[in-house]
Amino acid sequence: MENNTSYTCSGLTSKDENITVSADKPLVINDNITCKEGNEIRIEKGGTLTLGGDLDLSGDLYVEGKLIIEEDATISGSGIIHVVNSFDDIDCKGTVTAKIDAPEPVEIDGVTYVGGILLVNKEYSLPREFGTDIGDIRPELRQAIEQMRADTGFGMTLRPSSGYRSYATQEWWFNYYCETDGYENAITYSARSGHSEHQTGYAADITKTELDYADTEEGKWLAANCYKYGCIIRYPADKVDITGYVYEPWHIRYLGKSTAKLVHDSGLCLEEFLEVDRTN
Ligand SMILES: [Zn+2]
Repeated sequence: MENNTSYTCSGLTSKDENITVSADKPLVINDNITCKEGNEIRIEKGGTLTLGGDLDLSGDLYVEGKLIIEEDATISGSGIIHVVNSFDDIDCKGTVTAKIDAPEPVEIDGVTYVGGILLVNKEYSLPREFGTDIGDIRPELRQAIEQMRADTGFGMTLRPSSGYRSYATQEWWFNYYCETDGYENAITYSARSGHSEHQTGYAADITKTELDYADTEEGKWLAANCYKYGCIIRYPADKVDITGYVYEPWHIRYLGKSTAKLVHDSGLCLEEFLEVDRTN
């Protein structure tokens, strides 16, 4: 294109520097486009923007409707993608290196969500009864693990206690670790009751909870590839100060393929990605 602030799409040519995608007119952009600083692209509620090319974003992209990023598409630059409501509004198969601004956390019945993502960490906990009705890992996570097994031939063992963990079980173990190892040590690897991500049903400890798992073929594969199946390594080695947990190469968290890819490509841990501070 001669002028990279213009775009062509669906028979529409515009030199407008702001783009609004409204509910009545889905927009497909397959060209490479630029959104300059001070300009914005706004996907209104009910609207859909599909990007097939590269977006060089120095301005702001507001996602209130649906944003589809096709496989070869990228969004890069110093601008910001604002997720107004939910990360489910983004379907990312491409690559995003631009910063993503998450919505504020909301609490529903004692459970914290950030952009629809259930958040449990040392700051945010779950109520005692949460998950007891399911009592197991979620079907989405089970399917992801089965698919990883099928695709690789790795064992990816999942013992009963490695998936869902109830509030009562957490209570028992945390008390046990405190008694045997002291609170200060216990808090770095065991969760206070209600603070274990395992209670969500979206977390699993794969094969073995030992640090050398990271050096096994399976552990290396998991770290490099689990995002393709919708999971992230929740407590990375270089984020210990932020997550508050020691490196756990075995602990995966299911987020869904699109969000897992966004987190993976960002290089951030979940706390950073969701912009939540942890004081505990
Ligand atoms: Zn775990």
